[in-house]
Amino acid sequence: MALHTRAVFLGAPGAGKGTQAMRLARETGVVHISTGDMLRGHVARGTPLGTEARDYMDKGQLVPDRLIIAMVEDRIGEPDAASAWILDGFPRTLPQAEALDTSLTGSAQSLTHVVYFHVPEEVLTGRLTGRRVCGKCGAIWHVQNHPTSKAGVCDTCGGALTQRSDDRPEAVGKRLAVYASQTKPLLDYYRQRNLLTEIDANRSPETVYETLIGLMQ
Ligand code: AMP
Repeated sequence: MALHTRAVFLGAPGAGKGTQAMRLARETGVVHISTGDMLRGHVARGTPLGTEARDYMDKGQLVPDRLIIAMVEDRIGEPDAASAWILDGFPRTLPQAEALDTSLTGSAQSLTHVVYFHVPEEVLTGRLTGRRVCGKCGAIWHVQNHPTSKAGVCDTCGGALTQRSDDRPEAVGKRLAVYASQTKPLLDYYRQRNLLTEIDANRSPETVYETLIGLMQ
């Protein structure tokens, strides 16, 4: 993969961005920056940011732009992110996309790829409500599509699986509505800049990964 990959992964919650980004990071060494994971880390540690973000997250709403933008700018300024990264779950609003552009321009950098993981809306709800995450290593499973050999136990590390609070049915509908109204407009934003590549993500993770690797060479 290109040495200076600076990629954005776009797509609805449940489209598989995190699963693919995690594997790409493991196999290529690119730094995976997931704003959702970072925020969950803040919530777990009880930081002021976590305390402020928690209510929004539990309700399936977006955390305010000012908090997220500062968090991402700090992260991509860290030494390990100097050469190659993937942003997973950011930007999610037009102001976030504009802030990212401004920040990259300021450091004479630019995005190399914007990948849109497309999954039909009717498939997303089932993917989200059945998703389970390992509390120890972060591996992502699904009760039907990608089950562990022993229910509730991670095959990778033996950790206990949990359901994210925002994957409960009450929050899922809200998240998909927020995606449609606030994040989908970013597809046009990046299409107009000739950066957007669409992947059919309604296929097996293996097939999606092969397509992804092909286009990120
Ligand atoms: P994710 O793991 O990407 O689905 O994110 C989980 C939750 O974290 C979202 O539903 C939002 O509440 C919050 N979040 C993550 N990334 C962002 C972002 N870029 N802007 C606003 N809120 C975010």
